[in-house]
Amino acid sequence: MADKRVVYLDNNATTMVAPEVIDAMMPFFTEKYGNPSSMHTFGGEVGEYVEMARRQVAALLGALPEEILFTSCGTESDSTAVLSALRSYPEKRHIVTSKVEHPAIKSLVENLETFTGRRYRVSVLPVDRDGMIDLGEYERVLTDDTAIVSVMWANNETGNIYPVEEMAAIAKTRGILFHTDAVQAVGKVPINLAESAIDYLSLSGHKLHAPKGIGALYVRKKTPFVPFMAGGHQEGERRGGTENVASIIGLGKACELASVHIKEENTRVRAMRDRLEDGLLASIPQAMLNGSKENRLPNTTNISFEYVEGEAILLHMNLYNICASSGSACTSGSLEPSHVLRAMGVPFTAAHGSVRFSLSTYNSEEDIDYVLEKMPGIIETLRELSPFWKK
Ligand code: PLP
Repeated sequence: MADKRVVYLDNNATTMVAPEVIDAMMPFFTEKYGNPSSMHTFGGEVGEYVEMARRQVAALLGALPEEILFTSCGTESDSTAVLSALRSYPEKRHIVTSKVEHPAIKSLVENLETFTGRRYRVSVLPVDRDGMIDLGEYERVLTDDTAIVSVMWANNETGNIYPVEEMAAIAKTRGILFHTDAVQAVGKVPINLAESAIDYLSLSGHKLHAPKGIGALYVRKKTPFVPFMAGGHQEGERRGGTENVASIIGLGKACELASVHIKEENTRVRAMRDRLEDGLLASIPQAMLNGSKENRLPNTTNISFEYVEGEAILLHMNLYNICASSGSACTSGSLEPSHVLRAMGVPFTAAHGSVRFSLSTYNSEEDIDYVLEKMPGIIETLRELSPFWKK
C-alpha cells in the first residue's frame, strides 16, 4: 500500500455517519430501548423521540410531520410509492418512468411489466446526450390510463437534476400521481414540498450521514395510500413492523444537520468538485465529462477516460486508497457499461472508462490535491497497457 490515508470520494454510494448522529442514536441502544408501541411510559417516551425525528425530516423537506413515513431504505420507499399508486387506481395500467432511474425503480417497473402477465404498460422516457429529459416528449406519453409517473430528482451516476416539480405539476393537471426518488437530492439541493405537486418522495439515511437501513417516504396529505408491508399498527397503520428507533433518531438528526450543511454543499463542496473536475480534464488527455455541466448536484462529477477500463482505474486508485465508483459493472463475465451512460449515448470507448467521484462536506482541499496528483499517472500507466490506446 503506497499511502495510508483514505480519500473517500464515493459519497453517492454511501456516506460516513456524522459523529453528532452517532451521539444522538446511542441512548436508544442503552437506556432508552423501549418499544414505542408499548403501553408503559418507558416505551411511550421513546415514541415521543420518534415523533421528534419525524418533525426533523419533515422540516428539511418543507412537509408536514404526518406526511413522513419511516421505512427500511430508499428501495423500500420507492416500491411503497409506486405500488401504492397502482393499488389505489386498479383500473389504470400505465406507468411512466425514465431510462436513467436507479435499479430500485428500474427493476421494479420491469418486474411489474413481466411478472404480472403484462398487466402494466411502462413508458420509459429517453434522455439526450447530456442526460436530460424532453418535457414535450413527457407530456406526449401521459394518457388517461397513466396511474403513476416516477422520475428521480437527481441521478446517482451523473448527478443530473431533473425538473421534477414541473413534471409533477403537469401530472397533476392530468389527475396522475407523481413519485420522485430523491435519494441523491435530499441534503444537497433545497426541497420545499409545501410548494410542489409531488405526491410521493423517497429518501435514504445512508446518503446523508445517517446509518444504512433507514429511509423515509413522503406521502402528500390526501394522496391515496395503500401500505406495502401489512402488520401491526405502527406508522399510523401505514407500515407494519417495529420501528428501527435508533436509526430513525439518527435520520432525524442527519436531516437537522443537512439543513445547515446544504449551504456548504453548494459553496465549499461545489468549489472542491469543480477544482477536481477542471484539474482532471486539464491534465489528462481524452477525458470527458458525462452529464450536464450546469444542471447537477454540487458534489458529483462523472468523467470518462477513453480507452481504459473503469474497473482497472478503480483498482489502481485503490492502491492509493482513493475510493470512487465506476460506471461499468462486471456482469456475468462481460463488462457492461452503465445503463445511464448508454441511455445518454456515451460512446463505448468512453462509457467503459468512466469514474464517478462524489464528495461530501467531510472532504478537504488536501483530498483533492492528492487525487489530482495521482490520477494522471494511473491513467497513463493503464493506457500504456491498452492495445486500443496504442492504435
Ligand atoms: N435511489 C437512488 C437514486 C440511489 O442512489 C439509491 C442508492 O444508491 C437508492 C435509490 C437505493 O437506496 P437504498 O440503498 O437506501 O435502498
